[in-house]
Amino acid sequence: MERREFLGGTLSATLLSADPKSKPPATPSPGGALNAETTAGGPAPEIERAQSGRPHAGKVLATIAPHSDDHSILCGGTVAKLISEGYTGYLIRTSNDEMDSYDLSVGATIAANESDNERMAKVLGIKQVFDLNYRNHAMDDVSRVEMRARLIFLIRLLKIDTIFSYDPWGHYEENPDHYITASCVEAACWMAAGHNDFPEHMAAGLKPHAVSEKYYYARGPQLVNRVVDITAQMDQKMDAICANRTMLGNMVREFRDELAARKLKLPELEGDQDAAIRAYANLRFKPRFASVGEPYGLKYAEQYHYIGPSRALDAYIKEHAVPIR
Ligand SMILES: [Zn+2]
Repeated sequence: MERREFLGGTLSATLLSADPKSKPPATPSPGGALNAETTAGGPAPEIERAQSGRPHAGKVLATIAPHSDDHSILCGGTVAKLISEGYTGYLIRTSNDEMDSYDLSVGATIAANESDNERMAKVLGIKQVFDLNYRNHAMDDVSRVEMRARLIFLIRLLKIDTIFSYDPWGHYEENPDHYITASCVEAACWMAAGHNDFPEHMAAGLKPHAVSEKYYYARGPQLVNRVVDITAQMDQKMDAICANRTMLGNMVREFRDELAARKLKLPELEGDQDAAIRAYANLRFKPRFASVGEPYGLKYAEQYHYIGPSRALDAYIKEHAVPIR
């Protein structure tokens, strides 16, 4: 679930703030309060721009998050961009999203969000979805070792090179599904490369596999070192967000309830549900990602703490390594 509003914050390199699902404010803040500032002496984030052709052909990415809307709201633009540039994409949803509807039963909520998640993934160009189906809002009671093992299996099976997930070191995260998933993803990414972890995987034909790139996002302050231009993917991202019809419908109706309690309404949020969802998403999310891009001269952008492959020995290797014959 994605609900809180982005705030602002400053950390050593760049200040990020974000924040989607929790309690929507009674009044949406178009323009979002999201700001990304560079603190004195800190390096400016790297800007990742559109690339022509398919420079990532042969590479595999996975977006790993507990809730269907997380994928589209927090990294949907970058995921769509990288897939358009050649990546094969997978989506791993770790919860069953049973708590996110306005008035459906638990069973109907699970089925509706499962269906929405599949549609959302298709909009982003995802090849296949894996639902781990841990219970929504209760993931702090699941075995982290088990979830980590399932993720390690998938990293090795799919040969995942690049992941998108919650920042395990993001601040002020209140949803246990987010921080438990984040911590399992972080550990799985390096452990999947170990040849002694889960030898039964090797017996089944898998091999150790290292995740070489990580894009971490957060709803609260985090260290931001990469800003991705998603201007070309913004319409696709908004379509993906709106594909979460059950969750967005819940956001709209809760928001309408809050306004009604103040004896107010917004005409564009009344009437046809799909039109209301689109209007709400435009109010809620477009300004946020415009705010991320604005300091860098980008129309729309997403921001991350990016961790790339280690290059510590590259200079030595270039000078001394010899071909294997
Ligand atoms: Zn979420």
